[in-house]
Amino acid sequence: MTTVAVLDVERVTAFSGSLSGAVLQSGDERYELARLVHNGLVDRRPALIAVCRGAADVAAAVRFAREAELEISVRGGGHSVAGRSVSDGSVMIDLAEMKGMYVDPRAQTIRAQGGVLWSEFNRETAVHGLAVTGGAISTTGIAGLTLGGGLGWLMGIHGLAADNLLSVELVNADGEVLDVTAESDPDLFWALRGGGGNFGVAASLEYRLHPLREVTGGLIAHPFEAAKDVLRFHREFTQSVPDELTVFAGLVYAPGSTEVRLVALVVCHAGSAEQAEKDLAPLRDFGSPLVVDVGPMPYPVMNTLLDDGFPRGALNYWKSSFVGSLDDELIDLAIERFETTPSPLNAILFEHFHGAVTRVGVSDTAVPHREQGYNLFLPSVWVDPADTEANVAWTRETFDRLSPHFAGRRWLNYLGDDDASDAIREAYGPNYDRLVEVKRKHDPENVFHLNHNIDPRGAAT
Ligand SMILES: Cc1cc2nc3c(=O)[nH]c(=O)nc-3n(C[C@H](O)[C@H](O)[C@H](O)COP(=O)(O)OP(=O)(O)OC[C@H]3O[C@@H](n4cnc5c(N)ncnc54)[C@H](O)[C@@H]3O)c2cc1C
Repeated sequence: MTTVAVLDVERVTAFSGSLSGAVLQSGDERYELARLVHNGLVDRRPALIAVCRGAADVAAAVRFAREAELEISVRGGGHSVAGRSVSDGSVMIDLAEMKGMYVDPRAQTIRAQGGVLWSEFNRETAVHGLAVTGGAISTTGIAGLTLGGGLGWLMGIHGLAADNLLSVELVNADGEVLDVTAESDPDLFWALRGGGGNFGVAASLEYRLHPLREVTGGLIAHPFEAAKDVLRFHREFTQSVPDELTVFAGLVYAPGSTEVRLVALVVCHAGSAEQAEKDLAPLRDFGSPLVVDVGPMPYPVMNTLLDDGFPRGALNYWKSSFVGSLDDELIDLAIERFETTPSPLNAILFEHFHGAVTRVGVSDTAVPHREQGYNLFLPSVWVDPADTEANVAWTRETFDRLSPHFAGRRWLNYLGDDDASDAIREAYGPNYDRLVEVKRKHDPENVFHLNHNIDPRGAAT
C-alpha cells in the first residue's frame, strides 16, 4: 500500500467535494482530535480521515480508498482496545458524526447510525420505555460492539446485542449499499452477527427493542480479605440465577483509592422490583459487605455505573478468556495475582454468561460462545506512560499464569493488538470456516482487514 495517491491534490479535492461530511488531513485543525481513539496507547496517523454523514459518504470513501490503493480502517465509537479503527497511512472512515436514530415504538425497533454510542442509544430508547443489550459501560460504540457480539447487563434476559440485530445497512467492498436481513442474504446476515467489521461498513443498524424502564442494580463490595469466600459464593450463587439477573464479580480497587482493594459484585436485575428484592436477598445477606449500594434506577443509569473506571485517553492493555470453571485453584491464583497489580484501575473480572445468551445455538449466529460460565477479563488501565511496561508485563504474566484454566474460547471484542492468530480462531470457534466462506464471497480481496481479520485465504491474521 502507498500513501502517494492521497497526495494527489485533485483527487482529494474531488473526493472532498463529493462528501456531505469532511475530509481531514494532517495539518487540518480537526485532524489531530479525529485520529484519537479511546485507548491512549494508540497513536496513529491516517493519510486521510473521511468524516462521513451517511451511507452515501461511506460508499464514496470506500471507492476513493480503493482507487487510491489505500488501506481502510473503520471508526465507529473508537473503543477497540487493539486500536483497529485507526491505522498509519490509511483512509479512516470516521462515523463519529453519524448520530441519527429513529425508534419505532409500535414495532419496538430502532434504526441507529454507525457512530452512535450506547449512552446516546439508551437515551433515545428510554423515552419510549424500551432497551436492548448494550455494553457493560455506556461510552462504547454500538457498531463495533454489536458486530463483535456485544455482551452486557441484559444478555441473560435478551441475549447479546448481535442477537437482537434485525438488519444492517451495509456498504460493501465495492462501495455498494446493501440492506442486509435474514431474508435478503442469510449467510451475510449470519456473519454480521459476530463476525466483526470483516464484511463491510455498517452505516446503520436496526435492532429489536424490549420494554424496560427500571432495573435494580448497583454494587456490593466486600473487604479484599473476603475475596476467596465471595468468589466461591459467586460461583455457587450463579449456578441458578433467573434470566433477569446478571452478576459480574471482580477484584478491584475502591474508586479513587490507590490503597484499598476490594472484591465486588456488580448486579443488574431487569425484572420487577419485587422479584429483584427476592432474587437479590442472598447477595445482600452474604458475609459482611462494606458497601451495599443496590437499588432501582433507570437502565441508562445502570449502564454508566462503571464508566469512570475507563477514562477516555487512559492507557489500556487487555486480555481475556472464557474459563472451564471457576474452581478454587483459579480463584486463589487470581487473588494472588491481583495483590501485585501495578495500577489501581486494573481489575480481574468474572463475567457470568447464562440465560438467553446461552440458549442461542453455537452456529445460529457467528458468535459461538453460548455456554453457561464465566469470561475471565483482565482490563488493565493506567494513566502514566511511565507505567506502561509494568502494566503490560503484569497483564501478560497474569494471563499466562491463569491459562491452564482457560476453555480455549475468547471474546472477540476484547482481543488485543498482539493477540496471535489462534486467538482469532478461538474467538470465532467452530464458525470460523463458514465465516471464511462468507468473506470469500463478499470481500475476496480482504479490503476490510484492519479488524480481527477473517482472511479469505483461510489463515487467521
Ligand atoms: C471501556 C470499554 C468497555 C467495553 N465494554 C464492552 C462490553 O461490555 N461488551 C463488549 O462486548 N465489548 C466491550 N468492549 C469492547 C468493544 O465492544 C469493542 O472494542 C468494539 O469494537 C468497540 O466498538 P466501537 O465502535 O466503539 O469501536 P471502534 O474502535 O470504532 O471499532 C472497532 C472495530 O469495529 C469495527 N467497526 C466499528 N464500527 C464499524 C462499522 N460501523 N461497520 C463495520 N465495522 C465497524 C471495525 O473493524 C473496527 O476496527 C469495551 C471496550 C472498551 C474500551
